[in-house]
Amino acid sequence: MPSYVYYQKKIMPLEEAKMGVMTHCIHYGTAAFEGIRGNWNAAKKQIFLFRLKEHYERLFKGCRILRIDLPYTIEDLNRITVDVVRQCGFKEDVYVRPVAYKSTEGLGVRLHNLDADFFVFAFPWGRYLDVDKARCGVSSWRFPKEIARAKLTGLYITNALAKTEAIENGFDEGIMLNADGYIAEGTGENLFLVIDGKLVTPGSYDGCLMGITRDTVIKLAKNELGIETIERHVDRVELYSAEECFLTGTAAHLTPVAEIDRRKIGSGETGKITRQLQKLYFEAIQGNLSKYSEWCTPAY
Ligand code: PMP
Repeated sequence: MPSYVYYQKKIMPLEEAKMGVMTHCIHYGTAAFEGIRGNWNAAKKQIFLFRLKEHYERLFKGCRILRIDLPYTIEDLNRITVDVVRQCGFKEDVYVRPVAYKSTEGLGVRLHNLDADFFVFAFPWGRYLDVDKARCGVSSWRFPKEIARAKLTGLYITNALAKTEAIENGFDEGIMLNADGYIAEGTGENLFLVIDGKLVTPGSYDGCLMGITRDTVIKLAKNELGIETIERHVDRVELYSAEECFLTGTAAHLTPVAEIDRRKIGSGETGKITRQLQKLYFEAIQGNLSKYSEWCTPAY
């Protein structure tokens, strides 16, 4: 089954979408992007796109930083995304990648006097961290301090350096510190600890992206389990003594962490709170929790 893309204002097969080699964003990382999940619900024969609106709100924030003025509203982008996913017709989990980018074919480092455009495509994508429990290592690469919290393509070089370092060191994922030495996040996920039965996670001031999965988990923990989340600086050594640890992200979902820097977290098995949250999260993203149905946009 082919994938489709909305590119240059029309929907076409993904392999037909080509970009010129001089396109500005390729050279200087001048693009804002998102990652959105479409989750297949076999019983309902439906793909639910999770928290579309919030993803496009964050894309527009990235566009502001890059001075990208898109001739679309959030509602337009929601509709286009649903059209693309419907056109693909997949009956499995999909990943959706919207990109707002500087489209002028010409060189020169700058943000001004450049055209901008938008594309979005969908493709089947199963597990991102392909393990039940992740083994992580703290990275030697640190986030740049200035604009780490935006989802801009150029900023992901640090993440890519940290990811490859982690894999080559035998881990599944790297954990990045910020310039002050506090925990920031994984290379594509936010990080949570369970300490004294409460959730603890770094705040935006620690350089982490304000994840939509992070927000989802905080709300589910509070509303469904009565567990509060404390946002604060997290020291590296706190990782080693936490009761439980897990990562959250659109691609990685909610992945338990078994080990960090070759030290077991808790017993090394998935913790009780992590397991409860994981169950709630999967029910929510598959459109099975009516209380949270406004988070799920049906594609079919
Ligand atoms: N941090 C980084 C660096 C990411 O790339 C992502 C994935 N977008 C996240 C955190 C998690 O964000 P979200 O839950 O919105 O996918």
